Amino acid sequence: MTHTSPVAPAPRKTALIIGSGIGGLSLGIRLQSLGFDTTILEKLDAPGGRAYQKRTADGYVFDMGPTVITVPHFIEELFALERDRAALTTPDYPAQVLEGERVREGESGGPRTREYVKLVPILPFYRIYFDDGTYFDYDGDPDSTRRQILELAPDDLAGYERFHKDAGAIFERGFLELGYTHFGDVPSMLRVVPDLMRLDAVRTLFSFTSKYFQSPKLRQVFSFETLLVGGNPLSVPAIYAMIHFVEKTWGIHYAMGGTGALVRAFVQKFEELGGQIRYGAEVERVLVTDGRGKPVKRPTGTRVARGVALAGGEELHADITVSNGDWANLYLKLVPPQARLVNSDVRVRAARQSMSLLVIYFGFRRDGPNDRPLDLRHHNIILGPRYEELLTEIFGEKVLSKDFSQYLHVPTLTDPSLAPEGHHAAYTLVPVPHNASGLNWDIEGPKLVGRVLDFLEERGYIPNLKERLTHSEYITPDYFEGTLDAYLGNAFGPEPTLIQSAYFRPHNRSEDVRNLYLVGAGAQPGAGTPSVMMSAKMTARLIAQDFGIHPDLLGGPDEAVAQAQPETVGAAD
Ligand SMILES: Cc1cc2nc3c(=O)[nH]c(=O)nc-3n(C[C@H](O)[C@H](O)[C@H](O)COP(=O)(O)OP(=O)(O)OC[C@H]3O[C@@H](n4cnc5c(N)ncnc54)[C@H](O)[C@@H]3O)c2cc1C
Repeated sequence: MTHTSPVAPAPRKTALIIGSGIGGLSLGIRLQSLGFDTTILEKLDAPGGRAYQKRTADGYVFDMGPTVITVPHFIEELFALERDRAALTTPDYPAQVLEGERVREGESGGPRTREYVKLVPILPFYRIYFDDGTYFDYDGDPDSTRRQILELAPDDLAGYERFHKDAGAIFERGFLELGYTHFGDVPSMLRVVPDLMRLDAVRTLFSFTSKYFQSPKLRQVFSFETLLVGGNPLSVPAIYAMIHFVEKTWGIHYAMGGTGALVRAFVQKFEELGGQIRYGAEVERVLVTDGRGKPVKRPTGTRVARGVALAGGEELHADITVSNGDWANLYLKLVPPQARLVNSDVRVRAARQSMSLLVIYFGFRRDGPNDRPLDLRHHNIILGPRYEELLTEIFGEKVLSKDFSQYLHVPTLTDPSLAPEGHHAAYTLVPVPHNASGLNWDIEGPKLVGRVLDFLEERGYIPNLKERLTHSEYITPDYFEGTLDAYLGNAFGPEPTLIQSAYFRPHNRSEDVRNLYLVGAGAQPGAGTPSVMMSAKMTARLIAQDFGIHPDLLGGPDEAVAQAQPETVGAAD
């Protein structure tokens, strides 16, 4: 057998990951590269979590969650990993990533990605429709942005130039330099406060954009993106202005076959590296003992995670246990209260959860001879008549508003394979309050679905929609609460407010239980597919540090090959 591991860790450490969301899969791949033997336990029948892909009996394929894929470099990093070569000490942003041109056409994934899945760039990134029917095609190209600002609100052109410069500075410091910082203690956070103040990144994003733009339309264009990661533009810190730059720098991409194709590719990579996934494996409890393996009686002294108990009673033991599920659910339901001091029920219940969503997945006949052709793009944001008031009703008052904004996704404009011949597959997502609202979704769900579909037809977004409609189903906050086990049916984990960011966001290394870690939207840095991939790298680094992983395993594949070749060839022989 040829053996090229720089250091063969024997016996290998074992890891259990609760959940196969994109964060869980990314960490699974990373732990395999770090020399662990990893098993992912997923309660559902297939992987992806929020990125679950649904196939219907009548031939539609719907990505249930994320559709906007950013930072293809993070994906490439995962596909480039190899067993026992963790690439945790190589630069996070190598020169070719920082200096390379954004791919605008053709195939966009890196060379290792292409072995698993086909990524293509999407342009414009978004078409943003305003309530008066005008729109803004945002494509990350400053010249076209300037042209459209000149048409919509010429007086704001100078403001855009300043915004561009200041948001760029936030991106450099907040994403490129500090993005991978795990804020595990107060000093780590205090160190960055002066920078955040200097960049004016602690005020709210909406007030930040309002400094530069007078036009309400432009204030919306440059602040709505945080909604895609559960952040209320009126309360997320302006550090989130970096999203604008993340998109501009590396583009927005689509995985052919849908985000589900990317999820399957991650599963394939994880399994190729020797990882195992069990579906229909719901974790009921994290097994916690004291340092001597005895039951924990009170939340002081050493508390150690030993593995998990599945619904049905089976117990699985491992050196480390990682939760990729909902943060609040982990502590409120899976970790016994006597093992928790920091994440007590009171603290967890007091945290603010992100909003929830109603998402309608629907199929419809393509343009017939009597239909006005669709004037939509792959990603469409359709803003309602009110912005600040609507956000306040959703996030603050938690009521169902009379109007709504939505994100309409029509992937079949790029990839017809997702619908039967002659049809489109689409989804539209409407932010709604989470379940602290007390709304009865069995009653409100069908009513809101009817209003949204009527709106799309009456406003001409999809002419004759009801007559052309061939498939329609939807999810509400109850899906997030019941199926995904997310506290109060939150769609994106704890809300990213200033006082729930950095050190104040749940830590990726449990503050309460040794050998228990977190990865994904509920941990640092936050929600969204690029963030949960970052979260996986941050958690892998913490684990490497805690377990004193041999430095040879921490390097990248190329480095490791170069260093290891003479020795390992001999060892293999
Ligand atoms: C509708 C929607 C659209 C979105 N659009 C975008 C987008 O366009 N771009 C973007 O970047 N982000 C988007 N997001 C956010 C992004 O999808 C999420 O932040 C990210 O996918 C969350 O990944 P995760 O790793 O945290 O795990 P999750 O996807 O939350 O997965 C957690 C997994 O854990 C499993 N689990 C939970 N409890 C248990 C248990 N007890 N036992 C076993 N398994 C358990 C669940 O079944 C689930 O599979 C969207 C989210 C939603 C809901």
